[in-house]
Amino acid sequence: MASQSTADKDALDTQAVNNFREYLRIPTVHPNINYDACVKFLENQAKSLDLPIKVYHVVPKKPIVIITWTGTEPTLPSILLNSHMDVVPVFEEKWTHKPFAADLDEQNNIYARGSQDVKCVGIQYLEAVRRLKRDGVTLKRTLHVSFVPDEETGGVDGMKQFVYTKDFQNLNVGMGLDEGMPSSSEKFAMFNAERNIWHLIIHCPGKPGHGSLLLDNTAGEKVAYLLNKFYNFRKQEQQKLKDNSNLTLADVTTVNLTQMSGGVQTNVIPPEFIITFDCRITPQHDIKKWQETIDQWCKEAGPGVWIEYEQKEDQVTPTKLDNSNPYWLAFKDATDKLGLKVKPVTCPGGTDARFVRMVGIPAIGFSPINNTPLLLHNHDEYLGVDTFLKGIKIYCKILVSIGNVEEKTE
Ligand code: ZN
Repeated sequence: MASQSTADKDALDTQAVNNFREYLRIPTVHPNINYDACVKFLENQAKSLDLPIKVYHVVPKKPIVIITWTGTEPTLPSILLNSHMDVVPVFEEKWTHKPFAADLDEQNNIYARGSQDVKCVGIQYLEAVRRLKRDGVTLKRTLHVSFVPDEETGGVDGMKQFVYTKDFQNLNVGMGLDEGMPSSSEKFAMFNAERNIWHLIIHCPGKPGHGSLLLDNTAGEKVAYLLNKFYNFRKQEQQKLKDNSNLTLADVTTVNLTQMSGGVQTNVIPPEFIITFDCRITPQHDIKKWQETIDQWCKEAGPGVWIEYEQKEDQVTPTKLDNSNPYWLAFKDATDKLGLKVKPVTCPGGTDARFVRMVGIPAIGFSPINNTPLLLHNHDEYLGVDTFLKGIKIYCKILVSIGNVEEKTE
């Protein structure tokens, strides 16, 4: 195919930026998101790409939108290109631009909630597909570009359930790509694993009575015991991180006391205190051992202490980054050819990729954003137009590479 004229390329860039800004102006912001306008926008995108679109509902009013580009060998396992449609709330008074206006400033930066997390990636997938199609490129494998709801509230009504449906099975996904994290240096971050999130609500019952007494078996003593255990553990993990500069936050387990409740008035010993912990367990930490440890602490704290799990997931196997994973080799080949420095790390937070890994599918988290301050969930979130456009080119290479991975012979 003859190379396209500069005018054509400029038009494609303009279209990409316009689509990105239009997407950013749809306020899919928590809480109580209405996704209707977003679905409509994606339907228009599918039409302009001349590709079929399907909207699934595992939970009412929580659409899962999939735009499909069928490969030349459609029986091969497909590639899932996932991103979430929702964004976190804003404190508008802290912003220098309106957070849903997608203003372009003199430095050629686009300001909007979702510009880094993660509407950029959703549009970049589509624009990469648009360019490949224009250039007459075909891929062996089918690409499913998925847009999912409610990732920012844990994916509970989105990807977490979708991966267990027949509809998901029918997509025959061999590998998933999902969001990564911007990097402020030249290096790009790439996730092949995530920490496991456990939210513990620990109930500490005890003998109630008058505040002047020295009763045994009080709720307060149990809380004191547990806080000691959790915070000693926290100190050890903090030390591990300090002692080894190769480690990142995600290589240790974090625990933080986030809520405390109980008690009625100063001179009454209450029948219960409740303490809540946010725990993020590194994949290097055996989750069974962690369970035994906290169970033991609760037992030692005193009679009746029990844990209510607000969130608890099984251990997820990290996606392998070796010769056994042809998708990873293809991803690496593409980024190597582009001369990108990509650093594999464990994701310190949580993304929808973990649900894909949970059902045994390899998944890589990657956002093609470098040399950019990390503004996820922050005020004045922005993305440079040049970085955005460069990201589309990066995806073009990656999609050609992983979209043509030969069938795995085992
Ligand atoms: Zn995100």
